[in-house]
Amino acid sequence: MSKNTAKLANPNLETMPSDFLYHLDINVANTKDTSDIQQRFGDVRVICTGGTASRMRELALYMRKVLGIADTSDPVDLCERGHRYAMFKVGPVLCVSHGVGSSTFSVVLHELLKLVKYARCQDPVFLRIGTCGGIGVPPGTVVVTKDAFNGLLRNEHEIAILGQRVVRPAQFPEDVIKNILAYGADPNDGFQTISANTMGTDCFYEGQGRTDGAICEYTDEDKMAFLQKCHDLGIRNIEMEASMFASVTQKVGVKAGDVCVTLVNRLAGDQVTITMDQKHDFEQRPFLVVGRYIKKLLQQ
Ligand code: URA
Repeated sequence: MSKNTAKLANPNLETMPSDFLYHLDINVANTKDTSDIQQRFGDVRVICTGGTASRMRELALYMRKVLGIADTSDPVDLCERGHRYAMFKVGPVLCVSHGVGSSTFSVVLHELLKLVKYARCQDPVFLRIGTCGGIGVPPGTVVVTKDAFNGLLRNEHEIAILGQRVVRPAQFPEDVIKNILAYGADPNDGFQTISANTMGTDCFYEGQGRTDGAICEYTDEDKMAFLQKCHDLGIRNIEMEASMFASVTQKVGVKAGDVCVTLVNRLAGDQVTITMDQKHDFEQRPFLVVGRYIKKLLQQ
């Protein structure tokens, strides 16, 4: 099968002599000869993203084990000087932090997409590994997103561009979802891995229908009716990135998947009450699922 490099949706990139990926602190000094970037990043096949730098560092250490890379050195943060995001490289896998929510994630996502283009990475796959609230599933369930809904309960992503409302579709590729489930899930794991729709909101509190934020102008009944409506749409988890992530990767035709573990069942309450140890234990679950999927992907 022929391999493809990322084709981005911006003709201006072809006329820029250089491109400084500012937040990553990576300078593409000559866009017409990117051999230095290709040398550093050309072997990258999978770009894993997740909220915090510490979780991405932990994922990098985990991926060393999965890929059998005998390296005991401290993982190096390749973006340290950018002071915004952290990036660790483990063979063909990048582990990159994206902060909380679509706005911080979209900044690093644009730059990562440009990085894989300049590095001429072959068939790159972007993954997000995160935590989320669940709707009608037990805490600790791993959800692989099918369709991403925004906070208006629409299967799309809405963004203001040049003062205009721009709406784009927000679906993840079916083959990525299928393969994550086929290769990543194991019935003996002791937790469920399911595929379902995800709502990505712009606010953890009011945007997710919580009644325990600093502002709340609706009743508990209104909240439950909203969560039930989400459930009726096949939404089983709520986080803050899915619709942006799906729409940007779909727009540029790059494969992507969103794999999150639920920390709370929102039909039972708003507060995340699990202990930090339990949270850490739950956070290993998407590592396990994604680790197996990546291992298989790299064998193909
Ligand atoms: N992350 C979210 O966005 N929502 C939750 O309820 C838990 C984690």
